[in-house]
Amino acid sequence: MADIIQLLPDHVANQIAAGEVVQRPSSVVKELLENAIDAEATLIKLIIKDAGKTLVQVIDDGKGMSTTDARLSFERHATSKIRNAEDLFHLHTKGFRGEALASIAAIAHVELKTKQDQDEVGSCIVIEGSEIISQDVVVTPKGTSISVKNLFFNIPARRNFLKSNTVELRHVIDEFHRVALAHPNISFVFYNNGSESFNLSVSNYRQRIVNLFGTKTNQKLVPVSEDTDVLKISGFVGKPEFAKKTRGEQYFFVNNRFIKSAYLNHAISSAFDGLLKNGLYPSYFLNLTVNPQSIDINIHPTKTEIKFDDEHTLYALLRAAVKHSLGQFNIAPVLDFERDPNLDTPYNYHQKNNGMPAIEVDRTFNPFQEEKIASSKQESIRIEPTANWESLYVGLESKGTKSQHDFSEVHFESEPSSVSLFEDDKKIDNGQTTYQLHNKYIVSAIKSGMLLIDQHRAHQRILYEDFLKNLTLKGASSQQLLFPLILHFSIQEIEIIKELREDLEYTGFVFSNVSNETIEITGVPISIPESEVSIILEQLISDVEQEVPNSNFSITDLLAKSLAKSLAIKNGQPLKKSEQEHLVNSLFACKEPNVSPTNRTTFITMNVDELDKKFI
Ligand code: ADP
Ligand code: MG
Repeated sequence: MADIIQLLPDHVANQIAAGEVVQRPSSVVKELLENAIDAEATLIKLIIKDAGKTLVQVIDDGKGMSTTDARLSFERHATSKIRNAEDLFHLHTKGFRGEALASIAAIAHVELKTKQDQDEVGSCIVIEGSEIISQDVVVTPKGTSISVKNLFFNIPARRNFLKSNTVELRHVIDEFHRVALAHPNISFVFYNNGSESFNLSVSNYRQRIVNLFGTKTNQKLVPVSEDTDVLKISGFVGKPEFAKKTRGEQYFFVNNRFIKSAYLNHAISSAFDGLLKNGLYPSYFLNLTVNPQSIDINIHPTKTEIKFDDEHTLYALLRAAVKHSLGQFNIAPVLDFERDPNLDTPYNYHQKNNGMPAIEVDRTFNPFQEEKIASSKQESIRIEPTANWESLYVGLESKGTKSQHDFSEVHFESEPSSVSLFEDDKKIDNGQTTYQLHNKYIVSAIKSGMLLIDQHRAHQRILYEDFLKNLTLKGASSQQLLFPLILHFSIQEIEIIKELREDLEYTGFVFSNVSNETIEITGVPISIPESEVSIILEQLISDVEQEVPNSNFSITDLLAKSLAKSLAIKNGQPLKKSEQEHLVNSLFACKEPNVSPTNRTTFITMNVDELDKKFI
């Protein structure tokens, strides 16, 4: 049989590529603006007519092109931005695929005028449907002007597919917003159908946002800033009360490139958990700076999706940074107080070292000494005392009321306490600060009324944050077992343990052997009694099995949740006064004291007013 495969002519190949790169006028806007930025322009003008269907023109004052380059720029895979595949991981430009101009020229009438600074005259090229119509010498200012007319003139189906001008204009403005937001150091002017829509001068980031979204935006912005080894975050989130019904103002930029990421978006939404009414979306304008080697941009022709090396860490850092800002600016119903900086879980990420977890050997350990074992069990609510109780309640909002109380006046009834869990009980009993109700709730008096804490959920929260900290900093201590513990599991279960092994080791587990059906453990986290290890691992495996199908699943988070759930003091367990006190202290030293790791309420408050009403 005769050969039937043929190479497609260039103009057909270009049209096919254009199908991916150019979906609508806004795609042209994006590509042309990006080229102008790559050409180091300081002023960029965007001119459109009929939502870009009739004309998209971009004029820049960048470095321009030589006559040869001007001609070459319309060839497919012709780029000045990368030379080899390795360069894909050191990108400092927006473009790199060398196909935008070729694609655009395949489906529109294009005119390019360009001149380099040192040249007397520039070049003008007219190209229609990949066909060069003319190439001339012209007098033109330094920089480049490209006009793209009659988009999809030769593909009527695509042209008919375009939406109304209103919709297409919306897309164009969205693209313009994205580029302008990523580059406040460049001036932009935008003309729509002959009138000036935006005139943005060089400014700082806040001003740029305000110039694009209106003066009122200024008061809505809460700054976010975080700097770690793996990630730098800067920008703003919108205050919860200004949240929108649509996802409109949500912007992520990674290394100055607008990207879409449902996963990172989820990190932000979860930082807003409990602050937004259902159906409302937070605004955000966040710039993430990461090592270019840790991302892959070349996974989508429009370059708006990115593959990150370590998404889970970015998720945790981003969520924590946003939460921190909301808390710091007193936006969350989270308490603003001086807390042990070590509890600031992922913020300390930069302190993380990759060394082995420190192993603390209890040299005095004697397996035959009953009392010692009992007390090590108590350590499961090992809690750092917080220096100042009263500050914990400043800003505390009472749930379920619209009380206009000035919360800065809320004072705790007790003397500030900084005693440790194991100090003499009698000393604290005088304080009358806490009371355990039905071995389930801790009741505590505060100046505005009373506080009721669910002991199980509260302890889960404390342990969860503690585990998360250890998992991120990788610095948990371990207690070595006198005799290795040998546990049996099914092959699937062992597979899960293998996957979790590294993370488990960061919490303090030491595995000496993980084989087909047995695991051998020689060390466990200090908070875990040996007798419970097997139950805890079983629980963990079942949690993982149930959660895995969830796409936003983070193993670190799950591990911390599962361990916290297993180890938290149960309802029905009597607590000594000192333990109650420390539970309260530690809860309010948490980042999110008001909910358990599974988002259940950990405490409620009741005002004297509310109590009074009940006695009417
Ligand atoms: P890419 O941006 O991926 O390199 P393009 O097709 O968008 O591919 O552009 C091809 C080349 O044309 C660029 O690499 C650049 O050298 C040149 N070019 C395009 N637009 C401009 C401009 N506005 N100013 C200077 N050079 C440009
Ligand atoms: Mg380009």
